[in-house]
Amino acid sequence: MLESRAMLVVMGAHATAEDVERVCKKIEELGFKAHPMPGASRTAIGLTGNPGPVEPGFFENMPGVAELIEVTHPYKLVSREIRPENTKIKVGEVVIGGENVVVMAGPCAVETEEQTLRIAEKVRARGAHIYRGGAFKPRTSPYSFQGLGLKGLKILARARDYTGLPIVTEAIDAESLEMVAQYADIIQIGARNMQNFSLLRAAGKARKPVLLKRGMSATLDDFLLAAEYIMSEGNYEVILCERGIRTFTDHTRNTLDLSIVPAVKRISHLPILVDPSHGTGKRHKVGPMSRAAIAVGADGLIIEVHDEPENALSDGPQALLPEMFEELMEEIHMLAPVVKRSMSRPREKAIR
Ligand code: PEP
Ligand code: MN
Repeated sequence: MLESRAMLVVMGAHATAEDVERVCKKIEELGFKAHPMPGASRTAIGLTGNPGPVEPGFFENMPGVAELIEVTHPYKLVSREIRPENTKIKVGEVVIGGENVVVMAGPCAVETEEQTLRIAEKVRARGAHIYRGGAFKPRTSPYSFQGLGLKGLKILARARDYTGLPIVTEAIDAESLEMVAQYADIIQIGARNMQNFSLLRAAGKARKPVLLKRGMSATLDDFLLAAEYIMSEGNYEVILCERGIRTFTDHTRNTLDLSIVPAVKRISHLPILVDPSHGTGKRHKVGPMSRAAIAVGADGLIIEVHDEPENALSDGPQALLPEMFEELMEEIHMLAPVVKRSMSRPREKAIR
């Protein structure tokens, strides 16, 4: 298959469900995989897994077909060509990629049940929409705390029952992915696994949204193609996340590349969040970079918060204290309208 002959079948505004179904069937008969993407005004159908060239004539005269678009760049399903409007991903009552900016917050790692429930309540009371915490930790050193594993997932499920907040947590391999998909509301794929293609494919087969973090040395194309791997397996609920890349700077842990936000928005319909915690590695830089992320158009933030960061088993120096998180949330409430966004408030007042 010549990459340049990759096709999108764009259906007309009046195409019926049967017309879409007929085209999908034809695509499958030809040995391709069909990806129907319903949009506000029309449905586009992507073709992947093509064993040979696509003949436009196969589709051109089928009922409901408006046009065939040749896709010249390497990604198809992540592109605005297949879906011009922004993708909105619903997790419980939270919508990611809509007008409201979404904040995921919590500790780097699930350490104990008491710590997890305590911090969950603190971030919930201060307006976090989704609770984060790692049960499987991909640590640079094999001697560092590796996470509580399945026990950690069970603690996170208890934190969800306790606070009502959906859970995002990381899967580091095929084995943990199966467990994470069972317990979490969003599966996180970390920076170190962004090009673990078998893991991306497995996440594409899961029926839960995926938070895909940018690899430390990934270009925009690498990043979008990693998302394409997940989508090519039929999971279209991918949330991108910029978390900083490796450069020569030594005043931060990573260099938070905020310019990727408008770059992604131009090409892709997928939502993108920013992680200023790993992006800077230092508590006092998290607030300013969070504000900047919202200003450049990020759909939300993922922030590490700990109430005893000096005792944290991982990433203590970059964790915001609950009161710093509260202040940041207030700032985002003020800032969001300037960039035509807003943020929902917690139902009850914060407990101090
Ligand atoms: C994390 O979220 O704690 C984490 C390990 O993130 P990253 O994959 O971006 O390093
Ligand atoms: Mn961390």
